Amino acid sequence: MTSNETELLAQVPTVLFIGGEWVDAEGGRTLPVRDPATGEVLIEIADASPGDALRALDAAVAAQESWAATAPRRRSDILRGSFDLVREHADDLALLMTLEMGKPLAEARGEVTYGGEFLRWFSEEAVRISGRYGLNPEGTGRMIVSQRPVGPCLFVTPWNFPLAMATRKIAPALAAGCTVVIKPAELTPLTTLYFAKLLVEAGLPAGVVNVYTTSRSSDTSGPLIGDPRLRKLSFTGSTEVGRRLLAQAADRVLRVSMELGGNAPFLVFDDADLDKAVEGAMLAKFRNIGQACTAANRFLVHESVADEFARRITARVAELKVGRGTEDGVQIGPLIDDRAVAKADELVQDAVDRGATVLTGGTAVDGPGTFFEPTVVAGVQDGSAILREEIFGPVLAIATFADEDEAVRLANDTDFGLVSYAFTRDLARGHRLIDRLETGMLGLNVGVVSNAAAPFGGVKQSGIGREGGLEGIHEYLSTKYTLIPAD
Ligand code: NDP
Repeated sequence: MTSNETELLAQVPTVLFIGGEWVDAEGGRTLPVRDPATGEVLIEIADASPGDALRALDAAVAAQESWAATAPRRRSDILRGSFDLVREHADDLALLMTLEMGKPLAEARGEVTYGGEFLRWFSEEAVRISGRYGLNPEGTGRMIVSQRPVGPCLFVTPWNFPLAMATRKIAPALAAGCTVVIKPAELTPLTTLYFAKLLVEAGLPAGVVNVYTTSRSSDTSGPLIGDPRLRKLSFTGSTEVGRRLLAQAADRVLRVSMELGGNAPFLVFDDADLDKAVEGAMLAKFRNIGQACTAANRFLVHESVADEFARRITARVAELKVGRGTEDGVQIGPLIDDRAVAKADELVQDAVDRGATVLTGGTAVDGPGTFFEPTVVAGVQDGSAILREEIFGPVLAIATFADEDEAVRLANDTDFGLVSYAFTRDLARGHRLIDRLETGMLGLNVGVVSNAAAPFGGVKQSGIGREGGLEGIHEYLSTKYTLIPAD
């Protein structure tokens, strides 16, 4: 570790944040946080018990009424202040994410910008929560429709975007007047702890946001989900865990938002601008080391341009620089852990066993750290696991199609529907694809769609609800209808 890194880690709170206080976990338990590029322990932090998690909920419940009654302008100002602080501390936040998660520093800076934008966007939305007023059709009553905060929320966030996954939930919740308990992933808790410090600096009252870090995700979240005082669960992560949490939430008919897995198709038609398609593919596949729910998973390329696309993309992928995200020019950092490396390896092997060809890369890099070579496999056959499962690694898999109908059929042949990408110069085809692709989001001739002003979310098993955009705040509001006699 460099002295710069050690100094930064010394500024990160290492304990729980509950009711405006920084407190140890019950029994003083701690857990290690590691650098995936070296395997080295970066720091030890508090490891919360189920009792600690319940104390976090107590604090959120205690703060709910006064936060809901806080003037929207004040809530907006606090969010705007935290946006300014995130910008001011951008270098620290970026380095922290690179240390705990592994992404290249330039990408971590990009995430600070993206994650920060949710604070700005929802600071602007906090003062625009509106309702309706009107006569009923019979003319006998006055109807008032208003929006109320849902109440205390539990957020369970993943390791792949440590800042943005927190701000994308916290910002709309605070704007709407909800209080929060957040449990970041065990592998990447430091960014959330650091961000909580910035919220305090921005003037957030005690108890409005509470953070607990733990190695016992299920044991700690279970009692909270079962507690009648909790009014909302928002989760981002794997579909498997999402399904389990949904089942728990169903017992209490708890309101939920679920941002789950993807299996994004990336369609390249014969009339596509191949240079743009290659540019888009590099972003859609290799951003975040391929570890994004929006990562392109299946490259479906028209058979007449598949060889040329494969040749051009392979030339680009072979040049990618692999290393610790802090090193100059590195584009591909480590995968999050050994399991992720093993999974990438298995998926490539399975594709090859079923007839695909590795054009570049294809194997894990010898340790230390959990690296996998940037890889292209072409000629992937139907039935290969790589076309069904979320790869979550720097592996680009190419299969082919013969016409538009087949492209659409293959693209929709999945249980998931988070995002799709399509490259074509044909405007009419573009419009047809908007209608025909079963997807929550579509990048038409573009490889990244995420934006704080846009509704992020999926259909089918990719989730429930939307984050960001005009829609995002409604996940944290409930509609109340009041009737008053007209005279
Ligand atoms: P998980 O879904 O397991 O983890 C996401 C979050 O859920 C983390 O905070 C985790 O906590 C928590 N969690 C895990 N199990 C439970 C549980 N039983 N009850 C309550 N909370 C739980 O994702 P992984 O990190 O294991 O990644 C596995 C795969 O999931 C990836 O390879 C990828 O395919 C997919 N994934 C998709 C993401 C997306 O954005 N769509 C994001 C992350 C992963 P903790 O880490 O502390 O256990």
